[in-house]
Amino acid sequence: MNTFEYARAADAAAAVAAGAQAKTAQQGADIRFLAGGTTLLDLMKLGVERPARVVDVNRLPLAAIEKTADGGLRIGATARNSDLAAHPLVKRDYAVLSQAILSGASTQLRNMATTAGNLLQRTRCMYFRDTAMPCNKREPKSGCGAIGGANRSLAVLGTSPQCIATNPSDMCVALAALEAVVHVTSPKGEQAIPFGDFHLLPGDTPERETVLEPGDLVTAVTLPPPSAGSKQHYLKLRDRASYEFALASAAVVLNVDAASSITRARVALGGVGTKPWRAPEAEAALVGQRADHAAFRRAAEAALAGAVPQSQNGFKIELAKRCLTHALATATGVA
Ligand SMILES: Cc1cc2nc3c(=O)[nH]c(=O)nc-3n(C[C@H](O)[C@H](O)[C@H](O)COP(=O)(O)OP(=O)(O)OC[C@H]3O[C@@H](n4cnc5c(N)ncnc54)[C@H](O)[C@@H]3O)c2cc1C
Ligand code: SF4
Repeated sequence: MNTFEYARAADAAAAVAAGAQAKTAQQGADIRFLAGGTTLLDLMKLGVERPARVVDVNRLPLAAIEKTADGGLRIGATARNSDLAAHPLVKRDYAVLSQAILSGASTQLRNMATTAGNLLQRTRCMYFRDTAMPCNKREPKSGCGAIGGANRSLAVLGTSPQCIATNPSDMCVALAALEAVVHVTSPKGEQAIPFGDFHLLPGDTPERETVLEPGDLVTAVTLPPPSAGSKQHYLKLRDRASYEFALASAAVVLNVDAASSITRARVALGGVGTKPWRAPEAEAALVGQRADHAAFRRAAEAALAGAVPQSQNGFKIELAKRCLTHALATATGVA
């Protein structure tokens, strides 16, 4: 591992001031915040990330999970994934989030991993993690080994000619469907960023993965009040039953009235997009429809209509459609 200077942040202002000295934004920057370390230390050992300075944010008072005045939920940036998944309010009101977190990684990793770290975890594209390979995300303008290479696990939605890497998070798929807001304290003050605006598409700058600027410290994620009576489900399809990233996943939050008509739908996909993928086309296709398999399949077709397959991952398009159809059927109890 490369040498680096380690510092423990005394308070959020000190962390922001330290981070603001970075030349670029958080991901890939020379000054980095350290939370659970389950992404950052891995990448430092591989030589993919080489920060000169690491600022430990674990002692900041940002671990609380609490109800907000409007009946929503505030999740602190350093709340551990295990604590979040097990929290009674999350299990009761935001079950899709608990299910998504518990489908990821392992118990030990979830005990370390934090909310902010999970938001900012990086792709598992094998070329990104191997410094001998070309990768526009790791080293801008070096090329993309995955296009025409080993791309079975990579994205079919939101890709660009520069990068087709999948966002690997499970938690973020649920946060997209729950319409979370990311709270950031920065040299410019406080910001509240709607979840759909937080992650960026790769476009011509795949090295830039979020809207964060140098010194931006994620302090919390908030969830709006739960939709009363909503039916929720997270389904993750992968090569093996545990300790594996999604090939396709779906988070759904639906309201269905007494006549079995869908009155509200929130849908997001994982494993197939370059960012956590909200699917408004699927939501529009569901609202006003009777909750049945035909409607679910039409929604799935709409969600994947813009998918672009690579040489090895065309199977993901049908897999994601079936994943979403099945998640909708499970949430609504349609046999
Ligand atoms: C073997 C393995 C299997 C895994 N499987 C899965 C899986 O199936 N599903 C899944 O979703 N995830 C999986 N993960 C990823 C895991 O969820 C992430 O590594 C974890 O969530 C990262 O959180 P962390 O707190 O450890 O982040 P860290 O490694 O500490 O940090 C990650 C990034 O976030 C930045 N950061 C941290 N805190 C802040 C903050 N407050 N403000 C701004 N920036 C911040 C850091 O600078 C760094 O860039 C797996 C990981 C491993 C190692
Ligand atoms: S898909 Fe993205 S992360 Fe993977 S090699 Fe290409 S540029 Fe790098």
